[in-house]
Amino acid sequence: MNRTAAHIAIIGAGIGGLALAAVLRRAGIAADIYEQAAAFGHVGAGIQLTANATKALTPLGILPHLRRTGFAAALGYNRMWNTGEATNVLPMGRAIEDRYGSPDLSMHRSVLHFALAELIELARLHLGRKLVGLAPDGDRVRLDFADGGTIVAEAVIGADGLHSVVREALFGAERPRFTGKVAYRTIFPIDRVVGHEVEERVKWWGPDRHVVSYVTTAAQDEVYFIAVVPDAAFTRESWSLVGDHAELLSAFTHFHPRARALLAAAPEVRKWALLDRDPMPSWGEGRVVLLGDACHPMPPVMAQGGASAIEDAVILGRILADGGLDDVARAFERYGRIRRERTAAMQRTTREGSWMRHETDADWVYGYDVWKAPLDAAVPAAALER
Ligand SMILES: Cc1cc2nc3c(=O)[nH]c(=O)nc-3n(C[C@H](O)[C@H](O)[C@H](O)COP(=O)(O)OP(=O)(O)OC[C@H]3O[C@@H](n4cnc5c(N)ncnc54)[C@H](O)[C@@H]3O)c2cc1C
Repeated sequence: MNRTAAHIAIIGAGIGGLALAAVLRRAGIAADIYEQAAAFGHVGAGIQLTANATKALTPLGILPHLRRTGFAAALGYNRMWNTGEATNVLPMGRAIEDRYGSPDLSMHRSVLHFALAELIELARLHLGRKLVGLAPDGDRVRLDFADGGTIVAEAVIGADGLHSVVREALFGAERPRFTGKVAYRTIFPIDRVVGHEVEERVKWWGPDRHVVSYVTTAAQDEVYFIAVVPDAAFTRESWSLVGDHAELLSAFTHFHPRARALLAAAPEVRKWALLDRDPMPSWGEGRVVLLGDACHPMPPVMAQGGASAIEDAVILGRILADGGLDDVARAFERYGRIRRERTAAMQRTTREGSWMRHETDADWVYGYDVWKAPLDAAVPAAALER
């Protein structure tokens, strides 16, 4: 396939789809992105980019902007919900950079999203195009959109998130697993918190619930929190559903006053159900493959959902640039073999749920350099069963 004439279709302009288009563009490979939303919005959530994620983004040139805009906490606290006793204090800031060669940055989610979108050729970003189905068309793939339009592509990457239509077309309908927990999240000005210190980064660990909060701006004027509680009855997953603030506060009445002061200061909260899926034995078929949450969703416990989607994008982009366009099906197979074991390990660790509560070896996550990872790693299928 020719680098500029090949029709590569990426479904979904989320973190993974945009990162892939950016990596491909850097390699001189053109790709079209089809996104269901009519415009990019400002979703009120923070995102932590751990050192492996910032390292993956460095060659794309957006790290200086993320450093200027986002925030690098000096310390990360893990605390008991009631006494406030620290169970694990993570040296971050300079210590992370010294250890892993790249920073850990927290920011508003849209800062990352818009920085990635800036790297894309505008004419190749097709907004308001919702994929509804796909089917083989000779040795290519036909894509059907909700607006009645159809295109034929030589390679398709489903970066269309947790409820991936591409995944369903390949492997059949399978509902994601409800974890039994819901999350409340919000971002707001720090000066709304009165009478209590706002720590740069802290996780309050309760017996069956927790709160994570961190500063999201270089100016240190905004704070984000996500508060997770069991709620077997609520299964809606939406970025925009408004939550009941009083309900949130009553779920954390036994928490430390500093944690409660933070929750109480929020002007409003969003609420959504936490869903996940099991690791998959295969991510694609022929000329179609999945990326990011479409194939390895993980609830926000390790801050690796977005990071691993970016890693996927780099590995897939490197493979396509390394002769992969000559045999796309083989390239996609190679990509899955390299990526499945690492993302499955992240999914299992996420599900286990105690990441960083006490001293934790994080080198296998943060120390990974996706640009240097070998592209010939053959991972035995048995590794997925660990
Ligand atoms: C509250 C919260 C906090 C998080 N915090 C962190 C964190 O701190 N660090 C971290 O690394 N990760 C974090 N994550 C995880 C991270 O956000 C996801 O893992 C990441 O967004 C996955 O990227 P993606 O590109 O695979 O999917 P998404 O970002 O979900 O993008 C999918 C895109 O596909 C589009 N789409 C869907 N269906 C179609 C269709 N049929 N046709 C066309 N387009 C379609 C969607 O509109 C969307 O734009 C968090 C997640 C949540 C919910």
